[in-house]
Amino acid sequence: MRLFLTVFFTLLLSVSFSTFGQAQTSEPTIYEQRMELYRRMESVSHIPWYYLAGIDQYERNVRQARKDIPKAEGLTGIYFKPEEWAGPLNPDLSDDNPISIQFFNGMGVDGDGDGKASLSSDEDVLFAFSQYLLSYGTDHDHIKMGLWDYYKRDKTVSIIIGKAKIYKKYGRLNLDEHAFPVSLRSNYSYKNTWGAARGWGGRRMHEGTDIFADYGVPVRATAYGIIEMKGWNRFGGWRIGLRDINNNYHYFAHLSGFAKDLKLGQIVEPGLLIGGVGSSGYGPPGTSGKFPPHLHYGIYKDNGRTEWSFDPYPHLRLWERQERARAKAK
Ligand SMILES: [Zn+2]
Repeated sequence: MRLFLTVFFTLLLSVSFSTFGQAQTSEPTIYEQRMELYRRMESVSHIPWYYLAGIDQYERNVRQARKDIPKAEGLTGIYFKPEEWAGPLNPDLSDDNPISIQFFNGMGVDGDGDGKASLSSDEDVLFAFSQYLLSYGTDHDHIKMGLWDYYKRDKTVSIIIGKAKIYKKYGRLNLDEHAFPVSLRSNYSYKNTWGAARGWGGRRMHEGTDIFADYGVPVRATAYGIIEMKGWNRFGGWRIGLRDINNNYHYFAHLSGFAKDLKLGQIVEPGLLIGGVGSSGYGPPGTSGKFPPHLHYGIYKDNGRTEWSFDPYPHLRLWERQERARAKAK
């Protein structure tokens, strides 16, 4: 019995040690694997990794938001239609022979060196996009031209370029952290009013959540992103639009004003001061006080074709909880 117990505990110990060991030398995260892929592509194509990351992330987000294209399965989110890959006149749309694909003017190439141009290979797919961009050039303006010719949509190009700037600045891909839009230390209240008949915003359906707080309470950026819009609107008053790393547009309205030095095109991060709670709107620029001060916060998703609003309330609750937990951990 004693021997049995010794053997048993030794086994138990070795099992727990090996699990511990595994946790120490854990598998690289999805972000690390992607970064490794982008860096490898940069070294062969000279297209800076952050452009590749921006394109890849844009397409991944579009595929998550759309039902007419298959979901991404591998590391990369870039999607080629079979006819784009194999060539429009190629009788074999599942062709993976780089030579016949080239003959039919398909975009498919062999990036991983296995002799095949495979739509299911991350390297092949990313290499194909890099080769396409390379035919324009490797500098910012030529990459932008290549993107425009490929997507033929200004908004798509500006979203991708914005992401590239953000990735370049932070040097990493994991930028999913969020912050609650007003300071958690302030007195604020909000309810789930999604779809309510009326708020203060000038649309038929209330597209957002109203966060009531005192005049001047700090309003903060909710995500890593770029300031895409800043200005006056008759209904929304002083407003800010922030485009995040996941194709979402965060909309802040009725502000008392903007943070000093906040500029269009500026990169912001969660928690950064961007303005103050106010009651601006419903009149010519500067009109204020026609309703109680509150922040109108809305969120819109771009799917590569159009943009639509979705209910921010569950996200606000989540970000509020996460921020509390982070504050506690400090
Ligand atoms: Zn509102």
